[in-house]
Amino acid sequence: MLKIHSKLPAQGVTIFSQMTAMAQRLNALNLSQGFPDFAPPQALVEALSHATLHGSNQYAAGDGLLSLRQQVAQQFLQRDQLQIDPIHEITITPGATIALFSAIQAIVHAGDEVIVFDPSYDSYAPSIALVGAKAVHIPLMAPHFHVDWNRVANAINAKTRMIIVNTPHNPTGAIWSKQDWQQLIQLIQNRNIVVLSDEVYEHLVYDGQQHYSALSFPELRERCFVVGSFGKTFHVTGWKTGYCVATPELMRVFRQVYQFANFCGVTPVQVALAQYMQEYPEHIQQLARFYQQKRDLFNASLAASRFTLTPSQGTYFQSLDYRAIRPDLNDVDMCHFLAEQHGIVAIPISVFYQQPSEDLKLIRFCFAKTEQTLTQATQILSAV
Ligand code: GLN
Repeated sequence: MLKIHSKLPAQGVTIFSQMTAMAQRLNALNLSQGFPDFAPPQALVEALSHATLHGSNQYAAGDGLLSLRQQVAQQFLQRDQLQIDPIHEITITPGATIALFSAIQAIVHAGDEVIVFDPSYDSYAPSIALVGAKAVHIPLMAPHFHVDWNRVANAINAKTRMIIVNTPHNPTGAIWSKQDWQQLIQLIQNRNIVVLSDEVYEHLVYDGQQHYSALSFPELRERCFVVGSFGKTFHVTGWKTGYCVATPELMRVFRQVYQFANFCGVTPVQVALAQYMQEYPEHIQQLARFYQQKRDLFNASLAASRFTLTPSQGTYFQSLDYRAIRPDLNDVDMCHFLAEQHGIVAIPISVFYQQPSEDLKLIRFCFAKTEQTLTQATQILSAV
């Protein structure tokens, strides 16, 4: 008899797969999983088609197509005045998820501790568990989901090997200020701790605020991995292409792992992204305004509803508080209620917690949708 010992015995199917499947089953409006319902830029799709038709169909360099790495370096130069060496400090990966996974595999050993802030993106804790390390979950403080720095100070000990930061933050839309980063620097500067900074929503920051990358702080430059995703930036989540940036020393151990986790990213996708980024630099410059309009439309259309909200500062997610509508339901049941009774699907926030509070009556909606979808969604929600 074969004995199977799962390494993640309590792990079910991700909430994103579950909710998208439910939306399909019920033929409901899907504002759960984070992906746009509109087409990517025509020139980008054409560049992909051109790349496949003209021979870019075999393995790419393991570290990524150099011209795409150069485009990533160019972004950091323009935005943060940072010199990043595309050869030794940038790796293109098939999505941000494998970059996060590889960075954890590369740095964290069995018995180490990794601090994560709850609600935390669902891939972090399983990736930590798979190396035999312990995730130390620190809840962010509602309603603005700021960090309680005293709790972080108390959680750090000799076993702490990594702290995972996510700004702009999925699912809450909170962003880290310069002061947040300075607090973190103070707490870790004389310790052997690496920062893994998940910045996949780096270009989606609203109300004139600024995204601070971990890389922009000289004190963190030597001890951070920054992970990004072209999927969010170019409306192509299904192209699963991301990147990782770190010093040559950190990148060397990252690549030791990554080359066997995946070896290389998808060639024609990298060719297309590099070409598009070079030809259309305005795409990224206009992105925050593009999504802020969607956030504002979504939020303003809910003004007369019984949901309440704190406007999202970044990402393409908006959380709504439903305690005035169904205080009797927990957020998972509220999502089922909305899907089954009203034909709209959201994501419960509690699934991103190790220990969700009973009082959390929040559900997350993705506003990366056409005006038509957003109008339809807010009409449904206003009638609840
Ligand atoms: N990051 C996306 C979200 O938060 C989903 C990614 C996934 O489906 N794994 O909705």
